[in-house]
Amino acid sequence: MLKKIVLLLLAIVLIGLFFHFNLHQLLTLDGLKGSMDQFSELREKSPLLVIGGFFVLYVLVTALALPGAAILTLAAGALFGLFEGFVIASFASSLGALCSFLVSRYLLRDSLKNRFPERLAAIDEGIKKEGAFYLFTLRLVPIFPFFLINLLMGVTALKSWTFYWVSQLGMLAGTFIYVNAGTQLAQIESLSNILSFNLIISFVLLGLFPLIAKGIVNMIKKRRVYGKWTKPAKFDRNMVVIGAGAGGLVTSYIAAAVKAKVTLIEAGEMGGDCLNYGCVPSKAIIKSAKIAEQIRNAHHYGLEDTTPQFSFKKVMERVHQVVADVAPHDSVERYTNLGVEVEKGYAKILDPWTVQISYEDGTTKKLTTRSIVIATGARPFVPPLPGIEETGYVTSDTLWNEFAKLEEAPKKLVVLGGGPIGSELAQSFARLGSKVTQIEMAERIMIKEDLEVSEFATESLKESGVNILTSHQALRCETQDGKKFIIVKHNEEEIAIEYDQLLCAVGRSARLTGYGLEELGIETNRTILTNEYLETLYPNIFAAGDIVGPYQFTHVAAHQGWYAAVNGLFGHLKKFKVDYRVIPWTTFIDPEVARVGINEAEAKEKGIDYEITRFDFEELDRAITDSATKGFIKVITPKGKDKILGVTIVSEHAGDLIAEFVLAMKHGLGLNKILGTIHSYPTWAEGNKYAAGEWKRNHAPQTVLNWLEKYHTWRRG
Ligand SMILES: Cc1cc2nc3c(=O)[nH]c(=O)nc-3n(C[C@H](O)[C@H](O)[C@H](O)COP(=O)(O)OP(=O)(O)OC[C@H]3O[C@@H](n4cnc5c(N)ncnc54)[C@H](O)[C@@H]3O)c2cc1C
Repeated sequence: MLKKIVLLLLAIVLIGLFFHFNLHQLLTLDGLKGSMDQFSELREKSPLLVIGGFFVLYVLVTALALPGAAILTLAAGALFGLFEGFVIASFASSLGALCSFLVSRYLLRDSLKNRFPERLAAIDEGIKKEGAFYLFTLRLVPIFPFFLINLLMGVTALKSWTFYWVSQLGMLAGTFIYVNAGTQLAQIESLSNILSFNLIISFVLLGLFPLIAKGIVNMIKKRRVYGKWTKPAKFDRNMVVIGAGAGGLVTSYIAAAVKAKVTLIEAGEMGGDCLNYGCVPSKAIIKSAKIAEQIRNAHHYGLEDTTPQFSFKKVMERVHQVVADVAPHDSVERYTNLGVEVEKGYAKILDPWTVQISYEDGTTKKLTTRSIVIATGARPFVPPLPGIEETGYVTSDTLWNEFAKLEEAPKKLVVLGGGPIGSELAQSFARLGSKVTQIEMAERIMIKEDLEVSEFATESLKESGVNILTSHQALRCETQDGKKFIIVKHNEEEIAIEYDQLLCAVGRSARLTGYGLEELGIETNRTILTNEYLETLYPNIFAAGDIVGPYQFTHVAAHQGWYAAVNGLFGHLKKFKVDYRVIPWTTFIDPEVARVGINEAEAKEKGIDYEITRFDFEELDRAITDSATKGFIKVITPKGKDKILGVTIVSEHAGDLIAEFVLAMKHGLGLNKILGTIHSYPTWAEGNKYAAGEWKRNHAPQTVLNWLEKYHTWRRG
């Protein structure tokens, strides 16, 4: 900080000196003309001193963004002639620009990064891809004020070296014109003489040249991509959507809502993973498991503890019933009524405009379409452990049917994976009577959350009876004397853990093969690669949901569905970049863990000057009435500023409570606004208001309060 203040003071002093010595008057056309004889004389006497002095002055004027750089460029021509003047002015202006760029970076970047982290990150991303290109364009056109370009570029993540060489190259033409004009200084009446209207137009055209060239390159690229395919003259559909999970359902619904002719193709069950194998069944079993736990610990509510009496089969039947009850929301009938044509079959992309549907009876049909949206989702990843296939395992895809066959919950269940899915299911099955061992290779479960959140989750799962083994690496599966074992490595030691059932929950990999991506050369790297508009290599083929990432959630798939539909149908008119700024998620362990925005670890990683406001649910009346006081709200704000950067909530109903912060972040509302909002009493949502109140207390204007105290004392007499 001190260094920054010193630098700022130095800059102010130099600027002050510049004006004090009337250099601003000297650096005008008349000033220059009037002093030319003296300068020329001085140059004759001590050429090196004049060259050096001139160079330093030029660098300083540019570095401090002072007026007069154009005059100095003329002076270079007048004093040193075309060649020498050009070399001096070119290097001095580039070096000065670099200094200005560095000063701006040093003084401004950090504080802007703290204030607008997401916006700056987005700008940095653009600069990383096209920064040099844009800078070059700006430099070519001398109508953009150079000092502004230097300052603005300094705030971005553009590399200094790139800034330097692109600036020097980009300014060559402009510098040459001014230096050349300077060689005939006497004939120049005003600065606008130098850059005639025609010359400016030429420069603008020159500046536009890279953009035009880019457009041509894009056109050639597009041609190359589409080159080997024949585009149909007419299309059967406006849009074909592959996969009827959250991503595909929303895409096709939006397309139908705006009256496009859209076909949705689903090879498996309507509703995709979320309805059939994911969110819905898992939340159903979580509820049964929670009730069982409450019966077991009924003393919390003044009742007698009892061992819950239940049939595991019926619990699983309920899970299937819940799925069946939700299914009409995603059904063929519903979507047909909404105007979507639904085809039950396997889709394959044959060319950028043709999709083939293979039906169960062996027949096929081809549809031509203007755009295609791939929403084929992800499947559980099964680690290639030796022996795993022989000993058998379940995944989130198969467990619901496999466990429905069991009379009792598996006696010994090993859950492989300490992420959200593994943790939710480990806790649920432990509460339903299984002896659960959860194995995680990393040093803690739910590694994406802050350490204290992981620790909290670990405690909660342990209380439910889960044996958590972190820093344990699964090596292989074996059968010995009819018993199944998984062998894990911990501290270089091998440990054998017996199980009846092994649940693999180590992540989910995108479905990338078998439906045409390979043949079309659509780029993949664990997921389908798209740009920010969700366009794949082919700008008329889009991808949404788990197949594209970067978040594997139903609500994100749905969010992307909107962009895929709108860009797919109207992208030739206007395209929308997917907005990932405010994405919430919840892990439904008990108590729940919900998050939006950054957590503390990420704030540190990004170098943000942050502060934390905490509210403990022990203080909340409703949590006390519900005997559920464990948990907290943790809000991250930039130091001293009412701007929410991220929130983590650990508590009952955390997934619902986070919604208020999501709304606030999305619409730029701070904690003051939450504090000023009435929340009904006694509710869990009041916790949000109390968290905001905590922040307000920590930022109370102490001096004003001291004065107020004095005022009230005086009023009492
Ligand atoms: C156990 C578990 C719990 C979860 N809990 C939550 C939660 O609580 N909250 C949350 O937000 N997310 C949760 N998720 C994640 C959520 O399920 C996914 O993010 C979501 O389903 C992604 O939707 P999608 O449309 O991308 O893909 P999917 O839902 O996977 O849909 C893709 C569909 O495409 C079909 N398909 C694939 N290839 C073809 C083809 N060639 N032709 C025709 N059809 C094809 C598939 O059959 C599938 O139905 C959970 C996931 C699991 C496994």
